[in-house]
Amino acid sequence: MQADHRARLREAASRLADVGGSALLVAPSSDLRYLIGYEPMPLERPTVLVIGAGGDVALVVPELERPLAEAAPAAEALDLVPWRDDEDPYALIASRAQGGGTVFVGDRIWGSHVLGLQRVLPGAAWARATSIVGAMRARKDDAELDALRRAAAAADAALGDLLSEPLAGRTEQAVAATLGDLLVAHGHDTADFMIVASGPNAASPHHVAADRVIRAGDGVVIDFGGSVEGYFSDTTRTVVVGDAGEPLRTVHAVVAEAQRAATAAVRPGVEIETIDKAARAVIDAAGFGDRFIHRTGHGIGLEVHEPPYAVTGDRTVLEPGMTFSVEPGIYLEGELGVRIEDIVAVTDDGVEPLNTRSRDLVVVD
Ligand code: ZN
Ligand code: ZN
Ligand code: ZN
Repeated sequence: MQADHRARLREAASRLADVGGSALLVAPSSDLRYLIGYEPMPLERPTVLVIGAGGDVALVVPELERPLAEAAPAAEALDLVPWRDDEDPYALIASRAQGGGTVFVGDRIWGSHVLGLQRVLPGAAWARATSIVGAMRARKDDAELDALRRAAAAADAALGDLLSEPLAGRTEQAVAATLGDLLVAHGHDTADFMIVASGPNAASPHHVAADRVIRAGDGVVIDFGGSVEGYFSDTTRTVVVGDAGEPLRTVHAVVAEAQRAATAAVRPGVEIETIDKAARAVIDAAGFGDRFIHRTGHGIGLEVHEPPYAVTGDRTVLEPGMTFSVEPGIYLEGELGVRIEDIVAVTDDGVEPLNTRSRDLVVVD
């Protein structure tokens, strides 16, 4: 994917200046990948991107990783500052992070590095860089939206293939393994999570596929995803093996209505907590409010879960290009669970669901 890293670095510096920050520090993570196209393994030797409020950019790297860093897509847009094992990398980083304002630190940086930085910058105030880089990443550009669309379409196709074969008589683990293979067959670079939760196991939203054999009458929550060019898919359907009894039929209808209402509420200018409220209103009215035990959704992009979040208290105002999941659920412990999840994109005047498979209760063999 072609990304304009110089523009992203400029925007990060200007947002940093706007909030009176002195430096923005980013360790190997999706933030680093987003800003400079480089994502080495996080290690005990710090690699840290230092962006100053004046727009100067340095990448402090261990000497032995200098060749890797020199090949980074944005290498020409920054000063490479290698350090050897007999030097203090934190002092090097600090020398680039002067100015006395707040130091903004990315979420994904080891505690040992934060403590090393605090030792050499004793007077600094510290803040999370998510208010800067997270806000930038939340609005996807056309190339990012295209990757997310392809990921979603591939996930939908993989699920279609999976459900064309019987589930009954197979273990959750076997079905999960097939689903992972199908994601890759449909063009995913990685298959990262395959939740297959059958019968009472479906009451646990993050159930890990187990050796339970799927049988007739089971509701099965299938929640899975992986990445295409670094951008994630994440979709959920709940299917029933053979005839659906009660309360599965009723619960599924409530969740489907909540998912529809929440999706219909998506448009530019509304706060994302509104989306959560729209789903919750439907589920509350049906009497299952205390069984909807998680937020309605999460941003998605280079990470499966990233800001903003469709949850009470997140007042991020939706803008065109933002992408997030809409995934209400109802969980009856010891009995069943139902969740329906699509990734949606905010458009100029409404919403584009990236997942397009039917949200009706699908009966499978
Ligand atoms: Zn989840
Ligand atoms: Zn999911
Ligand atoms: Zn999700």
